[in-house]
Amino acid sequence: MKAVRIMEPENLRIVEEEKPHIDEKNNVLVQVKASGLCGSDAGIYHGTNAAATYPRIIGHEIVGEVVECGPTAKKVKVGDRVIIDQVTNCGHCYACRHGRPNVCQNLQVRGVHIDGGYREFIAVPDEHCYILPEGLRYVDAVLIEPTTIAVQACSRAEIKEDDEVLINGQGALGARMLSIVKLYHPKKIIVSDIFDEKLQEALENGADIAINPMKENFAEKLKEVTTDGYGPTVSIDCACTKDSLGTLIGVTGNAGRVITMGFTTSPTEVTNFGITSKELDIRGSRLQNRKFQEVIDLVKEGKVDLDHKISHVCDFREAQSAFDFNDTHDPSIRKIVFTMEGEPYKVRPDKD
Ligand code: MN
Ligand code: ZN
Repeated sequence: MKAVRIMEPENLRIVEEEKPHIDEKNNVLVQVKASGLCGSDAGIYHGTNAAATYPRIIGHEIVGEVVECGPTAKKVKVGDRVIIDQVTNCGHCYACRHGRPNVCQNLQVRGVHIDGGYREFIAVPDEHCYILPEGLRYVDAVLIEPTTIAVQACSRAEIKEDDEVLINGQGALGARMLSIVKLYHPKKIIVSDIFDEKLQEALENGADIAINPMKENFAEKLKEVTTDGYGPTVSIDCACTKDSLGTLIGVTGNAGRVITMGFTTSPTEVTNFGITSKELDIRGSRLQNRKFQEVIDLVKEGKVDLDHKISHVCDFREAQSAFDFNDTHDPSIRKIVFTMEGEPYKVRPDKD
């Protein structure tokens, strides 16, 4: 079996490894069909993800076909098309007891702490498999995972109808966030990004206002576009740069919520006053709390559309060039997805 292993930061190798076997715990063998390249995978490759351990087979957006089931596997059967929950938890710590396995004290995330999806086969517990909607292509189904991340962040944000929501960043995660924020019907959705092309797409996809902070004064513009110059009442950080937390604390209105999703460990400046004076809630949102079925149901109900969202499909053995290309931050990049069956490198597969 071939796999993409990050030996240590900046050292990516295509390795030959033994095909995994099912056992009592990991009672389902899945032949991986596609696996997405996420910002956090790039972070692990570059050594900027504080949670990761090495050497590691990365990839946590994992879809495939069930090819073998142990006797205890009840949830799926051979031939099922599935996506795999990346969160494995202990079940007994404080977080687990309070229904928050995504921040389990003994958390092990596929592709981060334990081996993930950039390989041909993976053995997992049947309860971590979710059956894909019929007709959804594997490469598009990868996007169920980032959508669960968006559902998680919105649940942490407790969005109400009179909220004015800022989504900072319109990369792959920001775009998924927009698709979920919309379902809450907030009073206003504001998006920001440094690429006008991405802002234009966001406006076409339901954002009310778009701001390019490279071209406009971010704080002033946010006052201008929110009711009574109040500022956004919910700010969700999908850009996750070193300084975006401080910026969002500055612009968010009184009694608002700021949702962080980044993994940088670089210090940034925030003040007590900035938080206390407005009584802001600064809430982290990590991974997702068993949100796969919810997203799959949203897709089936037609409330979330995952078609035509990925920009690049690439054979996983070409991972090095894909990661190098991803580093260019080329504005054409929406989502890069790896396939495991020798699919030729294609740009915008839906458009040819
Ligand atoms: Mn992801
Ligand atoms: Zn736990």
